[in-house]
Order: sequence, then C-alpha cells, then structure tokens
Amino acid sequence: MAKVKKGVDWETFGKLRGSEKRAYFTRDGNIFHVIMSQQFDRKFLDEICALATKVRGISKGNKGVLFLQSLLQGKRAMLYFVQPSTRTFLSFMAACQILGIHCSEVRDTSTSSEMKGESQEDTVRTFSSYVDLVVMRHYEAGFAERIAFLLNQTSRPVPVINAGSGKDQHPTQALLDIYTLHRSFENYGGIDGKRIAFVGDLKRGRTVRSLVYLLRNYEGVKLYFVAPQELQMGDDLKQYLREQKVRFEETDNLEEVVSSVDAVYMTRIQDEYDEAGESKHIDYSAYRFKKEYLKILPPNTIIMHPLPRREEIPVEIDDDKRAMYWRQVRNGMWVRVTLIATIFRKDKDIKEY
Ligand code: ASP
Repeated sequence: MAKVKKGVDWETFGKLRGSEKRAYFTRDGNIFHVIMSQQFDRKFLDEICALATKVRGISKGNKGVLFLQSLLQGKRAMLYFVQPSTRTFLSFMAACQILGIHCSEVRDTSTSSEMKGESQEDTVRTFSSYVDLVVMRHYEAGFAERIAFLLNQTSRPVPVINAGSGKDQHPTQALLDIYTLHRSFENYGGIDGKRIAFVGDLKRGRTVRSLVYLLRNYEGVKLYFVAPQELQMGDDLKQYLREQKVRFEETDNLEEVVSSVDAVYMTRIQDEYDEAGESKHIDYSAYRFKKEYLKILPPNTIIMHPLPRREEIPVEIDDDKRAMYWRQVRNGMWVRVTLIATIFRKDKDIKEY
C-alpha cells in the first residue's frame, strides 16, 4: 500500500496494538469506524447498552418509528458482503431501514471490475464514493481495517463497519453479545464478576475472539475455554488476557463447566477454514450441549450461540427460558441501529427523545 499523506504509513500502523489504533477509528473523540473490539472501552459499552434499550422503547410506537426513520433519511449505505452471510446481512439492512438509510449491496465480485484485474481496495474505494457508510464482510482477516485506513487518507472518508473479517473478528456480534449479557444480568449484578464458558471451535471462531476482547472491560470476570486441544483458543488472545489480568482456564470437560458458570457460549466448527481437512478427524461430540445438561445448569445461567448452529444445541432446548440465542438475533438488529446512529452522531437526539 502506498505511503499515506498524513500520519503513519500502513506498515507502522499494522504494528500498533489494537488499543493504540483506537484514535484512527474515531473522529473528534467520537466513534467513526468499527473495526475491532479492542477499540471499545467500558464507557462506550455501557452507553451503547443503555441507548439500545432506549431505541427499542422508541420503536414500540408509530411516532417513534417515524422519528427513527427520520434520523438518517437520505443517507446511503453499501453492504459489501463477499463472504457467505444472510443473517448479518439482513440484520444490517433492517438496521439501516429503521434509520431511513437506503442500501445498495455487493455480494458477488464476479460481476465487478475486480474481474478486469482491479484491486479490491480500488473497487471498494470507488463504491464508497456513492455512499455514506460501508458495511463489510470479508473472508480475509484485516481487510476492513485496511479499507478504513485507506479511506482515512482520502478527501471523503466514510465510516467502515467490520461485519466479520475471516477468522479474526466480528465486533458487532460481540457488541450484541455484550448487550445480551447485560440484559440477562441486569438484576443480578451486571456482567462484572461473571463466569463465562466458550465452547467449540475457539481457534477459528471470530465471534468468540471479539467477545473475549470486550470482556476485559469488566471487573473480575472469569473465562473458561472448553475445546478439543486442536481447536483451543489462540496464543495471541491468551497472552492478551494475561496482560489484561483476566482470569481464564482451559478444559475439555463441558459437563463440569456447565454446572458452575453464568453463561455458556456455544459455537459450531468453522470448517470453511479447513485448509487440509484438519477438523474432519476431530471428535466434536463432547462439545454439544446435551438436553440432560438443563438439569445441572443453574437457574440463572444463560445459553448463547452466534448461529448458525449445527448439532451443538438440540432444538428441544430452544423453549427453555435460559436459551438466549434467538434473543441475540433480535438484540443484534437493535444494537446495529444504535451503533449506526451513534456513528452519525444521532445519539444525542435519541437520548433526548
Ligand atoms: N455467524 C457467525 C460468524 O459469522 C458465527 C458462525 O458463522 O459460526 O462468524
């Protein structure tokens, strides 16, 4: 990538820690790009949760619906989703529609000039000239970050939201997960001090990575990583947790963990990233939430899943009041509405409504 006009160059930028990059994702102290979980602090998380609840309340009446639709009327968003997605794509589209934003979409680059040899950076930069917001899902880790960095150097930067970047991060999923935890524990002392288990493919699950980064903002949490050895949490994140003094334990005994935590976050095997078919030989059966576990699951412990699921959670569990995954889906849309409104500095209008 070419040398930039101002500030650091891409190489120097790439060496910065997540928290040091925060300044490049903000404008006048306000959030602008949403790229990685390390850019968020506790104050922001508390505010986004409170504001999302307010937005939901506003949306319950006709007047409120019209108010929300008027907030960003006339703005345009491009949903650049070149890795498979329907739920996150539709969630963002619905969030934009709630705020009165028009959406255009790119889902398949085979009809674009990338086929003529144009770089993906040029393609996205071209499309960004037509819109006010770029929401991006990409199979490559760090691609959304590169685009945000590139657009920052242009005369008309628009905000970039990372809607999933390879095996790396999915920060808006993590925000909706935090909102779900926040609502679930509202009357039980909040997220501080809670024990949270992550189960399954922790090595390649970007939702887990992003949520773990956010959880360092809460006092006294303890994390349990329940996975087969081959799919355990990456060393980079474990090192981060040690530095941040967040307690964690690795185990392969799901049954034991289920009876002693406040939240169980299940995930599917991420075999789309299998280069050499490595996960074909892994026995994943011990990392499923069995129906019998409902008997040993404490009454206020919640079960989460970013979806889509395979066999990690049987459908019979869906009706249990501790199963939160369908609520996560709904929470996701409201958190995205809130996030987009905040990026465009409409948070004050919402607070004052
Ligand atoms: N929907 C989530 C993601 O995009 C989880 C998954 O696909 O397993 O990462």
